[in-house]
Amino acid sequence: MKSQEVRSKFLEFFESKSHKIVPSAPMVLKDDPTLMFTNAGMVQFKEYFLGNSKASASRLTDSQKCLRVSGKHNDLEEVGMDTYHHTMFEMLGNWSFGDPDNSSVGYFKKEAINWAWELLTEVFKIAPEDLYVSVFEGSKEDKLGLDTEALELWKAIVPEERIVYGDKKDNFWEMGEQGPCGPCSEIHIDIRSKAEKAKKPGKELVNEDHPQVVEIWNLVFMQYNRKAEGSLVDLPAKHIDTGMGFERLCMVLQGKQSNYDTDVFTPLITELEKITKNTYGKSEKTDIAIRVIADHVRAVAFSIAEGQLPSNTGAGYVIRRILRRAIRYGFTFLDTKEAFIYKLVSVLSEQMGGAFPELKSQKNLCENVIKEEEQSFLRTLEQGLVLLENIIAETNNKTVSGKKAFELYDTFGFPIDLTALILRERGFDLDEKEFETQLKEQKDRSRAATQVTAGDWEEVNPLKQEAFIGYDHLEAEVNIA
Ligand code: ATP
Ligand code: MG
Ligand code: MG
Ligand code: MG
Repeated sequence: MKSQEVRSKFLEFFESKSHKIVPSAPMVLKDDPTLMFTNAGMVQFKEYFLGNSKASASRLTDSQKCLRVSGKHNDLEEVGMDTYHHTMFEMLGNWSFGDPDNSSVGYFKKEAINWAWELLTEVFKIAPEDLYVSVFEGSKEDKLGLDTEALELWKAIVPEERIVYGDKKDNFWEMGEQGPCGPCSEIHIDIRSKAEKAKKPGKELVNEDHPQVVEIWNLVFMQYNRKAEGSLVDLPAKHIDTGMGFERLCMVLQGKQSNYDTDVFTPLITELEKITKNTYGKSEKTDIAIRVIADHVRAVAFSIAEGQLPSNTGAGYVIRRILRRAIRYGFTFLDTKEAFIYKLVSVLSEQMGGAFPELKSQKNLCENVIKEEEQSFLRTLEQGLVLLENIIAETNNKTVSGKKAFELYDTFGFPIDLTALILRERGFDLDEKEFETQLKEQKDRSRAATQVTAGDWEEVNPLKQEAFIGYDHLEAEVNIA
C-alpha cells in the first residue's frame, strides 16, 4: 500500500465515523510562549481541551506535521541512529471534543479503543497477534490509580498476555511542562521474524526501544490540565486525542523493517545516492549520514515552506542547526564538498506536494534558501573541522573546554550540538556550561551595543483555509492565494 493511500485510508475511516477531515496546522508556532514547534497533533486543539473555545465540529481527523527537536519531546539525537524516530514526521489523529455544557457530546475511551483496533486489524489487516497494548498503571505522585476503564475495554479485545502496564513516563501523555494531559493507551507492533518472536515474547520488548517492537499509536484520554506549579486539575470536559506515526504505519503496511525503506523516504534516498555517489546499505556510517540528511531536509524544507527561514535566533536557529548538522554529515561521511541538499527539495515537493501544497508553491524559496545556507556554512566548515581536530589533539582529560567550543561557534558557525556530536563520535565530552557562560557574555555585549537584528520570517502565500478539500485533491484543485 502506497503511503498516499495509507494516509487517505486513515482519514476516510474516521470520516466514516462522522469525523470532519481538517488540514494540518503549521509546524512552526508563532504565538505560543510555551512551545516553538508543533510536537503533536493536539497542539492546534489545545484551547478546545482547555475549554477556552469551541471546535467547529466535535469530531475531527487530520495528518499533522510535527517537529520534535526541542523541549519536552526532543528526538534529535535518535534521528538517523535508529530507523523510526524523525525530526519532522506526520501524526495521524482522530479527535473528540467534549462539551462541558452537554455531556452527551463527544466520545471517550470505548470508541477510541474499539475504532483503533478496527482500523488496524480490519481495514489495514494487521495480524492481531502482533499487536500489544499498554495501560496506565497509575502514579502515586499525582494520586492517580490504574486505568481500569481502559483495561476492561482492552481485555474484551486482546488476550491479557498482550496487555502491558506502563508508568507515567510511557502512559501519561503531556504536551509540555504544563497544559492538557491524561492517561493513555499505546499500541505497539512486533515486526520481528518468526524465529526471533519464538525466542522472546514481544511483551518483554515493548517500552524497551527495540527497533522492531515499536509504538505506532497513542490513544490519549484527555481529562486533566497540568498547572504551572505541577498539580493536576480536571478539564471542563473529557476529550480524545490520538496520534499515530504515519511513517511507522507505512513501514508496517509496506512490510519493511525501517521507516527509511518506505516510499516516504526511498525517493529521497535514491536521489541522495545519485547525487553523492554513495550506496545506502553498505556501511553503518554512510547509512546514518544518509538517513540523517533524508530526515533533516524534510524538517528544513517544511519549515521554510511555512515561512520560517534559518536564522540566528529562536525557531530560525533551530532550523539552521538542523541544516548545518545535515551539511556536516554529508561533508564528513558522504564526501560532499559542494551544496547538494537543496537538490533534494524537488523530489520532496514532487512526492509530498499533493498532501502539503506549500512544498510545491514554495519550492523555489526552499531551494534557494537551503543552497545559500549550504554554501555559506561550507565556506567555514572545513577550517572549523581542522580547528576542532587541533582542539581534540590538545585535550588530555577527554572534556573539551566550552571556551574553545565557543570559538567554533562564533568564528565558524558551529552550533553547540554539532560540536558536541562530533566530539561524541570521537569519544570526548564537552563543557557545555562554560560554553553557555561565554554565549551569555557575548549576548550581554551585543545587547549593550543595541544591535538591530533582521527578522527571520518570510511572508509566504498562505493557503486559504476554506480551500482545503482533502489531502488527496489538494494538488489539483486548490488555488493558492
Ligand atoms: P516513542 O516512545 O517511540 O518515542 P512517543 O511515545 O514519544 O514515541 P507519542 O508522543 O505518543 O510518541 O506520539 C504519538 C505517535 O507518534 C507515536 O506512537 C509514534 O508512532 C509517533 N512518533 C512519536 N515520535 C516520533 C518521531 N520522532 N518520529 C516519528 N514518529 C514518531
Ligand atoms: Mg518519544
Ligand atoms: Mg512512547
Ligand atoms: Mg507514546
